[in-house]
Amino acid sequence: MYKIIDGKAISEQVKTEIAAEVKAMVAAGKRAPHLAVIIVGHDGGSETYVAHKVKSCEQVGFKSSKLAFEADITEDALLHEIDKLNKDPELDGFIVQLPIPKHISEQKVIEAIDFRKDVDGFHPVNVGRMSIGLPCYVSATPSGILELLKRYNIPTAGKNCVVIGRSNIVGKPVASLMMQKGYPGDATVTVCHSRSHNLKEICLAADIIIAALGKPEFLTADMVKEGATIIDVGTTRVPTSDTKSGYRLCGDVKFDEVAPKCAYITPVPGGVGPMTIVSLLKNTLLAAKGEIY
Ligand code: NAP
Repeated sequence: MYKIIDGKAISEQVKTEIAAEVKAMVAAGKRAPHLAVIIVGHDGGSETYVAHKVKSCEQVGFKSSKLAFEADITEDALLHEIDKLNKDPELDGFIVQLPIPKHISEQKVIEAIDFRKDVDGFHPVNVGRMSIGLPCYVSATPSGILELLKRYNIPTAGKNCVVIGRSNIVGKPVASLMMQKGYPGDATVTVCHSRSHNLKEICLAADIIIAALGKPEFLTADMVKEGATIIDVGTTRVPTSDTKSGYRLCGDVKFDEVAPKCAYITPVPGGVGPMTIVSLLKNTLLAAKGEIY
């Protein structure tokens, strides 16, 4: 019988642990960790994510600030705002919610953030430090995936781990982390993408599959070996008349047929998703404690 990796339950557990640390910090006379979130424009998805982030900060006792700018803000003006946050001594970390409007360079924005406050872990300094195994802010989704493997004591050393997807925010960093020395890591990692051949054969040899391609129900039972662990990162909005919002979140794994073959599997929703915000909170706590830089 397969086990569900309950990301919602684990995320609540981690939040409780963070809240206890914050309480102790404040009791010792320190100020609470402070996270700021910049949002540009009125993208519905982004507004929801930011609202969740602000609410999660409240839950664990962090101070949070939301800085909202209209979609027509100039690149220079946004970079100026980022610079102000870089210099604010009362702020431990901040993020710019992506995507941002097309007239602003995402890469310029990422690189304008002081890497010591880059709790999203997207700055090249953090990405580079992660890839050579130095302390850094690890980006939220990969960090959440590793935390799930750890909390469920899923063995990774010497295991064949197949990552489907090579994006900068999920595929590449999670592949890099899975091959680092130590636990969770020490895996033999294969990264697949849209140009990969023989995906089915590659997946059939995998002990762990991390599906992060954004193609609903892509991974089917005939691609999975008995006893594998499946991490489903996909969250595609699929239209439905069954929900008030008019859509449901669909993973990259055909859950009903794949789950019976697995040892462990993450559901969508309730698997990787809830861990992402928790990882951001963890990075902010590390920033407040000055434990990385
Ligand atoms: P992305 O930037 O679109 O990257 C998708 C990757 O999948 C690319 O590397 C692409 O290959 C590869 N790919 C596409 N079709 C493929 C196929 N048929 N076979 C093999 N590989 C294929 O996506 P992302 O930002 O990494 O996100 C992936 C999914 O995770 C999305 O559903 C996203 O919503 C979700 N997500 C969830 C969370 C969370 O917190 N739960 C966080 C982030 C992302 P090429 O490089 O060759 O194009």
